[in-house]
Amino acid sequence: MSNSQLTPGIAPGRLPAEAYQRNFSDLDPPLDRHEAHVAADRCYFCHDAPCMTACPTSIDIPLFIRQIATGTPDAAAKTIFSQNILGGMCARVCPTEQLCEEVCVREVAEGKPVEIGRLQRYATDTLMAKGVHPFTRAAPTGKRIAVVGAGPAGLSAAHRLAMLGHEVVIFDARPKPGGLNEFGIASYKTPGDFAQAEVEWLLRIGGITLKTGQALGRDITLEGLREEYGAVFLGMGLSGVNALRAEGEDRANVHAAVDFIATLRQAPDKSTLPIGRDVVVIGGGMTAVDAAVQSKLLGAENVTIVYRRGQEKMSASKVEQEHATSVGVRILCNAAPVAVHGNGAVREVEFAYTEDTPSGLKLGAETFRLKADQLFKAIGQTLAGQPEALELSGGKIAVTGAGRTSLDGLWAGGDCASGGEDLTVTAVAEGRDAAMDIHARLAQPS
Ligand SMILES: Cc1cc2nc3c(=O)[nH]c(=O)nc-3n(C[C@H](O)[C@H](O)[C@H](O)COP(=O)(O)OP(=O)(O)OC[C@H]3O[C@@H](n4cnc5c(N)ncnc54)[C@H](O)[C@@H]3O)c2cc1C
Ligand code: SF4
Repeated sequence: MSNSQLTPGIAPGRLPAEAYQRNFSDLDPPLDRHEAHVAADRCYFCHDAPCMTACPTSIDIPLFIRQIATGTPDAAAKTIFSQNILGGMCARVCPTEQLCEEVCVREVAEGKPVEIGRLQRYATDTLMAKGVHPFTRAAPTGKRIAVVGAGPAGLSAAHRLAMLGHEVVIFDARPKPGGLNEFGIASYKTPGDFAQAEVEWLLRIGGITLKTGQALGRDITLEGLREEYGAVFLGMGLSGVNALRAEGEDRANVHAAVDFIATLRQAPDKSTLPIGRDVVVIGGGMTAVDAAVQSKLLGAENVTIVYRRGQEKMSASKVEQEHATSVGVRILCNAAPVAVHGNGAVREVEFAYTEDTPSGLKLGAETFRLKADQLFKAIGQTLAGQPEALELSGGKIAVTGAGRTSLDGLWAGGDCASGGEDLTVTAVAEGRDAAMDIHARLAQPS
């Protein structure tokens, strides 16, 4: 008997086959040549382009849009990649509505920005489809550098270092490179195995050896890396998750949202993934939205995001929140979980209403319960497995300047490092900037 959205408990195949195909295809399909030209023609090519200032990687946006408008998308792609080697992924996943497009003068004047993200995708896809790698390496420097983590920060650092003529070895604990590009970002933002294709394309610069299944602290040590390499860059992200601290949290079918999303990203056939009829997601960021939306797209009947503060404080952008509600996800605010009920497995989650006061969040006496076959926790990731010798700041590796840590010869960037927002584009910028700093340091006489 086939399953439906009404099948009780947790079940796979709740939707017809074609629904999975539709639900997990490109959320924002690419522009064709004509559409790209029309979109590019809306740009004023501002002299003091605010869009460029708002881009964490400082891409010369008016220049690349002009290059598209004049029929040279390959040159546009090179403009983008010279600042952001993961410009293809960023074109798909950047919250442009909070970055470049938010400050675009056409957004400010007319409420409709130039579609910078989609234009960036048009340019980068055009060049990547030709299999062309637009950069070559400088003459070999004879220096070797270790990079820990093959996520956006590590890949960006490794590419820049390789381009500058260094030999780079990347170590990653997982069996595949890409970091959260491969295991975290929502499927519908990056369908078609784009994350792996992008890594393969990036590695064509040469000079980079990738070693997967190699974890710092398990297979390699910081001391060993510092002895063997001229410099070390840590881009190890945040692999721990925060606990709910609600009674009964250890019941079955209570999972970290990031684990659910990683499994989903790796499943070639989404119809085989079991999903609850009633799903509750706790959190207010991108991870919460992605877990909730994808639960709905897998066929859950009722999906509710519960956030402990007011909706205006959710870190997921307005566009993401609207996307969630448009697919039928319910967002409940000002409530925090106090207990997970069930006989072995979760059946209900109990919440207390909250009050956000100047002295902190206060739980009210009144509670309510939501039915849940699955409960996903999306209340933030934490640094895990970092070397003990490192100084921390706010739970992350303390860095100053372009990613310098408290230890000489050791840099860090991306989500694992202090400061900066936890975004793909920020990780790329920090990896690139640390690479430039490492290069400058290695060029100094010892
Ligand atoms: C569910 C989810 C959705 C997101 N969606 C978006 C989005 O739409 N847009 C956006 O801009 N940002 C998004 N983000 C944030 C973005 O993915 C991160 O900011 C970005 O991936 C950080 O890059 P990073 O290289 O610092 O870390 P990561 O991408 O986490 O990569 C770290 C790498 O280090 C490896 N590693 C960890 N520990 C070790 C160790 N001990 N030894 C060796 N290797 C190790 C990991 O295996 C991983 O490959 C999302 C995050 C999540 C969790
Ligand atoms: S702010 Fe808008 S109009 Fe001005 S250069 Fe940037 S994209 Fe073009």
